[in-house]
Amino acid sequence: MNSVSQLFGIKFPIIQGGMIWCTGANLVSAVSNAGGLGLLGAGSMYPDQLEEEIKNCLKLTDKPFGVNLPLLYPNIEEHLNLIEKYRVPIVFTSAGSPKKYTERLKASGIKVAHVVSSSAFALKSQEAGVDAVVAEGFEAGGHNGREETTTLCLIPSVAETVSIPVIAAGGISCGKSMLAAMSLGAQGVQMGSRFVMTHESAAHENFKNAILQAKEGDTKLTLHEITPVRLLNSTFYKAVLHAYDSGASIDELKELLGRGRAKKGMSLGDLEEGELEIGQVSARIKGVISAREVIEQTIGEFHEAQKRVGNISF
Ligand code: NDP
Repeated sequence: MNSVSQLFGIKFPIIQGGMIWCTGANLVSAVSNAGGLGLLGAGSMYPDQLEEEIKNCLKLTDKPFGVNLPLLYPNIEEHLNLIEKYRVPIVFTSAGSPKKYTERLKASGIKVAHVVSSSAFALKSQEAGVDAVVAEGFEAGGHNGREETTTLCLIPSVAETVSIPVIAAGGISCGKSMLAAMSLGAQGVQMGSRFVMTHESAAHENFKNAILQAKEGDTKLTLHEITPVRLLNSTFYKAVLHAYDSGASIDELKELLGRGRAKKGMSLGDLEEGELEIGQVSARIKGVISAREVIEQTIGEFHEAQKRVGNISF
């Protein structure tokens, strides 16, 4: 059996990224019920919201699901207590040191994966005792690594560096890219943008429609001085470019970013003032479908591509 499927007790090694403002019990349970692994994106949830979503997941699926916990989240202790209280079986940590909470989570019987953007950090995560790493390349939406390593370069390096299962993320939206990632040494994939564009995702319709219009080159990696983030080339992005052109300091950039921009854009659908975090694969996404269709199409395409590759000769 595939090591990622075995680790999490799932049918297909397809994980839905725990994107802020886009997840909820509807999406997470739909992914898990279809044989993948759904993750609640706790980074945009106050503790009472996370509790409600966990309770709803427990009602909507009897399959494993997890929580993505960005470690710079302010009320992390409360989130951890909820995860333990409701015996959520899987946690994906990101944006912080895996040394901080892995031991505690594992002592509670929770499987832990940590998101990394370099081989060095993958090794540190393995040393911290995580069960798997998500190696996320430059193409990914939202918070991104400072190294700017593409998925094509990152996955083989991480797979050669660690002995724990590697889950590839960044630029994966279909069975062909899943097969490519697994050929490079990953044992599973995490898809974010593709699951944003599902009926069950909590993303605002305006945000989904903006993604449908996105073409190659329409996402940009910016704000490296604060936290590198990939977002749609929108009114807010143009304001950031203007600030750079005017020689803005880090404090001025922080002031421009302000608070709650991601919520404005992704949850409230304000395309002018909001930040619209999405990956490069947005240019390849041509419609909004159900989470089950995403998984079924991905697995179907994976097998078709596998046959085609078997016939390649030179
Ligand atoms: P901001 O500081 O700009 O705003 C905080 C936002 O988070 C607000 O919209 C707020 O909602 C919401 N929020 C949820 N829980 C809390 C809490 N306990 N305390 C304060 N605010 C809370 O942050 P961002 O929107 O840029 O990021 C939000 C979180 O998501 C952070 O933890 C960040 O690290 C994480 N993140 C993770 C990404 C990833 O790729 N994994 C990408 C981007 C962010 P309200 O307006 O209703 O108060």
